[in-house]
Amino acid sequence: MNSTTTTNFFDLNQPALREFFSGMEEKPYRATQIMKWVYHQGITDFDKMTDISKGLRQHLAEQTAFKLPEIVSQQISDDGTRKWLLRIDDKNCVETVFIPEKDRGTLCVSSQVGCPLDCSFCSTGKQGFNRNLSVSEIIGQLWLANRELDSFQQQNRIITNVVMMGMGEPLLNFDNVVKAMDLMKDDLGFNISQKRVTLSTAGIVPGIDRLAETSKVSLAVSLHAPNNELRDVLVPINRSYPIKELMAACQRYARQRDDDPITFEYVMLGGINDSKAEAKQLAKLLASVPAKVNLIPFNPFPGSEYKCSSIETIDQFRDILVKQGIITITRKTRGDDIDAACGQLVGQVVARAKRLQQSQLNRQS
Ligand code: SAH
Repeated sequence: MNSTTTTNFFDLNQPALREFFSGMEEKPYRATQIMKWVYHQGITDFDKMTDISKGLRQHLAEQTAFKLPEIVSQQISDDGTRKWLLRIDDKNCVETVFIPEKDRGTLCVSSQVGCPLDCSFCSTGKQGFNRNLSVSEIIGQLWLANRELDSFQQQNRIITNVVMMGMGEPLLNFDNVVKAMDLMKDDLGFNISQKRVTLSTAGIVPGIDRLAETSKVSLAVSLHAPNNELRDVLVPINRSYPIKELMAACQRYARQRDDDPITFEYVMLGGINDSKAEAKQLAKLLASVPAKVNLIPFNPFPGSEYKCSSIETIDQFRDILVKQGIITITRKTRGDDIDAACGQLVGQVVARAKRLQQSQLNRQS
């Protein structure tokens, strides 16, 4: 059998899988049967799929595969956070992080190998960029984490939330990310409610609009600065999609989602973006959108030029926002002892482009 013609099941969302079976002149409900085995039971061995005829099982085994990234290592933090390094091809690895909390378990999923954006405080961006992840490489992170946490057989799944906040800019890998999120939300897939799947973007405006039309998920926006002058430096994609355009896109997104709040992420960089004046400017900016704010203490990495704001400064910044009626929480740093915290994911990236040139990023979605 020629492996290049093999279909990988994990690349197919439900509509694609139904189409796949119709193409084989099989009933589309085969998709239902297989998805239940794979995503509800965690079974990828055709021999165990007993409600499918032997003949069809054999045919499928010849034509298709369940190909997943390979786990290279697992690290467990003192606080229970786990980080997996996953090999996706000969040269490249990405990272996935599981963050257990009292009332939920969150998986932080990567969407690209490295990142083409060059946010000045993020170590993933410093790795350069290799390629987009495929649907199977994205949904495979969730499937593998469920298996590793021994969660397939549990009544209550351990992973209750997914955040597209790992390596990469998800809106620059739009189609694959949306298909993978379909599988996360699908009741024949992981059956995670749409509010518990969050996509985080550095602010790719056309991608936000496309997402509003195509997929129902919660949105987080990495704002990090309340004005263009500062944001141009911290999040250079701002030069293509400045704050006014970004906020307008956020308003449109919120409108589509019955005014569900958008989460604005704001990394706390000592002496850079953490003054009282900046907090007030931020509150003013967010008055026009249903907003929540997540303040993220800066996580240092080797060679980083910033330091984290003091706890007092973070509290003061939060209090100003709260006084203006904005729900604001300070994100607890998790897994930093294993470099699993926000902005610390590096994987193993053979950069093919150091970063995309600004001209290439312009107006790209
Ligand atoms: N590219 C997407 C997804 C990454 S999400 C985005 O920008 O939203 C990861 C979050 O962690 C983003 O808000 C990112 O800006 C933030 N982050 C990056 N580096 C960080 C660091 N060193 N310390 C704290 N937060 C960081």
